[in-house]
Amino acid sequence: MARLRRGSPALIRGLNRAAVLALIGTQGPIARVEIARRLALSAPTVTEVTRDLVADGLIRVVDQAASSGGRPALLLGLVAEAANALGVKIAPDRLAIVRVNLEGEILARSDEPFDALAANAVADLIERLRRSIDDADGTHLLGIGLGVPGTVDAQRGIVESPILGWEQVALGPTLGEALGLPVLVDNDVNTLAVAERLYGRGREAEHFLTVTIGLGVGLGIVVGGDLYRGARGGAGEFGHVPVVEDGPLCECGMHGCLEALVADPALVGQAIEGGLVPRDSSIADGIARLRTLADEGDPAARRIYAQAGAILGRAVAGLVNVLSPQFVIVSGEGARAWSHLADAFSGALRAATFPSLRGVAVEVDPWDDAKWARGAAALVLRATFAAPLYERQIEDSVRARLPGASDRSEQRPSAQADAAEKSV
Ligand SMILES: [Zn+2]
Repeated sequence: MARLRRGSPALIRGLNRAAVLALIGTQGPIARVEIARRLALSAPTVTEVTRDLVADGLIRVVDQAASSGGRPALLLGLVAEAANALGVKIAPDRLAIVRVNLEGEILARSDEPFDALAANAVADLIERLRRSIDDADGTHLLGIGLGVPGTVDAQRGIVESPILGWEQVALGPTLGEALGLPVLVDNDVNTLAVAERLYGRGREAEHFLTVTIGLGVGLGIVVGGDLYRGARGGAGEFGHVPVVEDGPLCECGMHGCLEALVADPALVGQAIEGGLVPRDSSIADGIARLRTLADEGDPAARRIYAQAGAILGRAVAGLVNVLSPQFVIVSGEGARAWSHLADAFSGALRAATFPSLRGVAVEVDPWDDAKWARGAAALVLRATFAAPLYERQIEDSVRARLPGASDRSEQRPSAQADAAEKSV
């Protein structure tokens, strides 16, 4: 469990360093005076911290702000190439592996076949990651992030995933030991939310939701600038919100869950019932066929999507009413059929949203495996930028790999007690 650390000069220095690095990483390029203002730090503290970060090769002067008479302010930005991270999106039948720099830019990408159900799945994953580590030769790797469809104990790296057929798999510790790098694991929708917060629209937003549709229905909740996980780590099981009493059986064993009505298997089931796709279709083939029919204007196929869109819109209205987000991002493989879901979704969303909350923006993000893998890598980068306020081993181990981290922890007795707490 994460435990709050006791205050000490070293901790305060660490907090200031992390806060400044986080601000530059997420909001930069930025001037020292602006850093001081945003973090409520004194000018000498900012000068000292940024000098250390420059000396460590993590930040540099990248530009000058336009001058309005006086001396133009120097803008500080990350040294993107100072370190890299690997990100992996795991699907039942494939992996996407990316290597990103500190700015989250993808430097290398590979899409590989994978069989999550195979007895040697984890060993195979280790082999493939070993190759990616070899390919990265020469670059300084901070760690590996993995996004997994399922419930993840992110602190201990343990995965429970019916979709992958994985029961209580200690993925983080196993990979960490085999590969000798910090390994962070999280639910894949959460990794998408983290990426959105670090690099996307979430940079300027403290409260937003990412909803994913496809094989299942997922939800990432960002509240107050950080991922909300709930008491036991399972927050975001949006797919299992009850919608219809005595509705169709869900994979979870309950009846009438949202997922059992609008996820791909449900849509394919409805298409089979309606005679639109062959009875023996796989989910992938069935959904592709259904989408093609809808694209061609088949009214029965379009009805299936419209019905699903309305159910989803009503369910998202429930989220908006409870959480009052600044915006909602819809993504996932299912978003490829968004043109057929959109009208019914919007109508139902508006109709069921509390009047003062109506008009919340919904943005549809095109599906891309690499984007999810980048989100997984963002888990590592986020740990880099996180304040070392809590004793969390895995994030500490990522920060310990930052250039200059070890020799800066106990030196210099200065730094005011104006530590800023800032999480990404
Ligand atoms: Zn369910």
